[in-house]
Amino acid sequence: MKGHNVRELPKVELHLHLEGGAPPTFIKGLAREKHIDIGGIFNEDGSYRFSDFWNFLKVYEAACTTLTGPEEFRRLTLAVLEESAASGVVYTEAFLSPDFCGGRDLGAWREYLAAIEEAASEAERTMGITLRGIVTPIRHFGPEKARETAICAAETAGDFVVGLGIGGDEKAGELKDFAWSFDCAREAGLRLTAHAGEWKGPEEVRAAVRDLGVERIGHGVRAIEDLALVDELAERGTVLECCPGSNVALGIYPGFRAHPISELDRRGVKVTINTDDPPFFHTTMAREYEMLNRAFDWDDGQFRRLATQALDAAFCDADTKAKIANLLEA
Ligand SMILES: [Zn+2]
Repeated sequence: MKGHNVRELPKVELHLHLEGGAPPTFIKGLAREKHIDIGGIFNEDGSYRFSDFWNFLKVYEAACTTLTGPEEFRRLTLAVLEESAASGVVYTEAFLSPDFCGGRDLGAWREYLAAIEEAASEAERTMGITLRGIVTPIRHFGPEKARETAICAAETAGDFVVGLGIGGDEKAGELKDFAWSFDCAREAGLRLTAHAGEWKGPEEVRAAVRDLGVERIGHGVRAIEDLALVDELAERGTVLECCPGSNVALGIYPGFRAHPISELDRRGVKVTINTDDPPFFHTTMAREYEMLNRAFDWDDGQFRRLATQALDAAFCDADTKAKIANLLEA
């Protein structure tokens, strides 16, 4: 067992929702400051309380009501990056939501984004962690709102905003209804990912690749139910942003040992390790490493290989990748 070692390894994360990374104490503190009553979303022990994925989405949105302006997002970004850095993460891509940052108004979005970027620069200086943003339309808010979100993404595409990736309730609507948003982002030079194959099966993973042309899939793990698809993903080099702790916390798999990440990896699919919404799912990147080490006996070499694979799949520019590659080798 090398569980004590793997926690310390330098890590790359590609799938983290910024608001979903909010420590509960941080959200509670904001609620107190602003006299917002969201007491119902916490357990006695201070953790977030929810019963299932759909209730989790409600609790998530309730927590977001405390994030009332750019300054709150600046503080949130610092709080989230502090947690990631403590886990050994040196590079992270976070999903950013214009829905929660000014209601998809482009002018407001620019102000929120400036605050998030300011925090990211500070964290890079003081904590040695680099952040890039993936703008995320929320599927259950519908294709019309997704268009406005995609326009926010396209108008701010650059060194910091590097991708578009749809999240939210996978059972709401069809992915093809969001094709306009993905085309808009692609034309602006953004890289593409989509949540699929978490709550729906292999067909949804096929739809993400076919209808949206994404190069990465958020989760995608239920591809394992169709081995022909697994072979296709391996051949195509599609990257899966696996979030084992999230899947276990939400009951998709009974435990880490039952999670398909190891088999997908063995079958040649490019898997990566991520936390999704870490405090909601009682996890951190360090814990994900430790649990995977215990479940599959993965050693330092395996984790280093997957970190390099994640960096290859990152949406940032080549200079940033080269800088992070040095940190991974250290
Ligand atoms: Zn996610």
